[in-house]
Amino acid sequence: MTLTEKLLARASGKARVVPGENIWVQTDVLMTHDVCGPGTIGVFKREFGQNAKVWDRERVVIIPDHYIFTTDSKSNRNVDILRAFVKEQGIKYFYDVIEDENGSWHFDETKGQLKRQYGSHYAGVCHTALPAKGHTRPGEVLFGTDSHTCMAGAFNQFATGIGNTDAGFVLGTGKLLIKVPETMRFRFEGALPFGTMAKDLILHVIGDIGFDGATYRAMQFDGPGVKSLNMDDRMTIANMAIEAGGKNGIFPFDEVTKAYVDERTRVNGTRSTYQPVEEDKDQKFFYDKTFHLSKLEPTIAKHPDPGQRALARECTDIMLDRAYIGSCTGGKTSDFLAFAQIVQGKRVKIDTFGVPATPDVVRELQSTQWNGKSVWVILESAGVQMTENASCAACLGGPQDSFGRLNRPMNCITATNRNFPGRMGHKESKVFLASPYTVAASALTGHITDPREFLS
Ligand code: SF4
Repeated sequence: MTLTEKLLARASGKARVVPGENIWVQTDVLMTHDVCGPGTIGVFKREFGQNAKVWDRERVVIIPDHYIFTTDSKSNRNVDILRAFVKEQGIKYFYDVIEDENGSWHFDETKGQLKRQYGSHYAGVCHTALPAKGHTRPGEVLFGTDSHTCMAGAFNQFATGIGNTDAGFVLGTGKLLIKVPETMRFRFEGALPFGTMAKDLILHVIGDIGFDGATYRAMQFDGPGVKSLNMDDRMTIANMAIEAGGKNGIFPFDEVTKAYVDERTRVNGTRSTYQPVEEDKDQKFFYDKTFHLSKLEPTIAKHPDPGQRALARECTDIMLDRAYIGSCTGGKTSDFLAFAQIVQGKRVKIDTFGVPATPDVVRELQSTQWNGKSVWVILESAGVQMTENASCAACLGGPQDSFGRLNRPMNCITATNRNFPGRMGHKESKVFLASPYTVAASALTGHITDPREFLS
């Protein structure tokens, strides 16, 4: 069996499963957020009753992160609905934006978009927060009401996005009926070359199979090249499995995974026992291809979908109005450090927005010093508009006042993960996906630029 099949067999209490089989699986963690949480709660109450209790109050993780730092009252109300539900159910893991469980959050004009407007519990973007807060464990099943839940496959999990109806059912029962996906294997050899990042690798893979090339299939990323990828790299890759239509993305378990998970569960006091799944010798794949990482070059996905692969050096004629770094995919500390490496001591030529994925990323950027200056200050000095309000922000457009939103037709290069029309705001905008290196180099020139020009 493949990694996904082994994991699903265990979660369904079976010795073996085969692709196409429908099985009931036991959920280890259900995650929801402010956009889908209220709908999920509504389904749960409708189907199980107004006084029903969730199946396990310690396995539900609620992370408001999408439409938070906005004056939009409906968005603010969504977070209030989550808060009330958490209180009613006694849910253990709720990363609220405010301190007071009886309070309500409102946009503070005096702080504006840039200054921190959250309390000490807030965790930022759900997919980055889940592992950081110790909720991703190898061998487990994670369902989330968000398509990029697949990011946790980096930790040797079966992690996938589900809709509100399914999530309402999981809330009531802890179980879900799913069809075992076929597995496509992407075998990595070698290491990423100079000037490239994990984002280039996943854009290359998606360009190979198209934005629907893995529809309802597991994408297994393995091979000796995985050793050269750290957890942030693996998260970036697994995150974008859905951009090829994948049901899930999954990596093997190794010492790198173990070190990360053990540290995060220890620091946060979350469940620390787990049982990874290992690769069998007799795996059967629907598709099997080897990728030589050393041959990669800085890669972008052009408008209008993540499968529109091109090399950055071949697209220098594409002029840009905006650059954006942020999101679960591209808003990690390592992403900002790569970005800062390029813009340090220079000045961006176009509007450039920086949105850290989590408050921890903000803290790390503000405390990491390069030549006597914090990385945060280096980015601001280069002209990057940095907000302390870690969230999804303009990654998916959001309310009109979302930080960095594309409110008119424009060309934007971004370290985020999705570029279908309208994704970041205006439906006539064109969004180009790229690595933090490439976004930084392009911000400096005002056109798509191969970052190797700026790296020594
Ligand atoms: S940052 Fe973007 S991709 Fe990630 S969860 Fe938020 S909206 Fe979705």
